[in-house]
Amino acid sequence: MSHSKPTVLIVEDEGYIRRVLEAVLHAGGYRVLSVQNGAAARAGISAYMPDLLLLDLGLPDMDGIALLKELRGWSRLPVIVVSARSTERDKILALDCGADDYITKPFSSPELLARMRAVLRRNAAAASPEDVYCVGDFKIDFVKRIVTVGGEPVRLTQVEYRIVELIARQPGNVLTYRQIIHHVWGPYADVDNNRILRVNMSNIRRKIERDSMSPQYILTEIGVGYRMAEKA
Ligand code: CA
Repeated sequence: MSHSKPTVLIVEDEGYIRRVLEAVLHAGGYRVLSVQNGAAARAGISAYMPDLLLLDLGLPDMDGIALLKELRGWSRLPVIVVSARSTERDKILALDCGADDYITKPFSSPELLARMRAVLRRNAAAASPEDVYCVGDFKIDFVKRIVTVGGEPVRLTQVEYRIVELIARQPGNVLTYRQIIHHVWGPYADVDNNRILRVNMSNIRRKIERDSMSPQYILTEIGVGYRMAEKA
């Protein structure tokens, strides 16, 4: 899949504001998903793996701050709080709880888009001390989010890309099944993720390895997890 369009999950219970945000983000070139409460946000984060979260604080089923704290227990997913709460105290609390930025309602659309770009840029820079990792014919570009083998682009699903990216960022280190599942799906997924991870890995290997039965790039540590091959 193409990763050129970042996916944004909007968490906003007020219909009018949600529709405005959706329109602004669509026009800004984002892939947009939206939910109306904290429970749906949890499910959406695991299911859709957004690149950025726009989070309202006054949600019908929980406070956005609680959701933010919970999220920061396992994920660095960038979060911009978009809230009517406008005191300095509210902003500091949200930022201290792990929000990447804070914007008050009513917001200016160009300012919102500019802050989103800034947060996504900072996140990409922080996450990628190296922009590219190559081993043999395998190459992953963490900035463009493209995997190539022998110069040919490999079409990975979003989940597949996340798995490969996580493993490729730490070449030589074994990542346990649990670590990978936690990173990719978070603690909310209620599916059989061990099985789903194995299925995804077998699909990844079909796409990137010459012989998926005897992989050269993503190696199996039997019973433990996976490891990216190191440069020779
Ligand atoms: Ca609200």
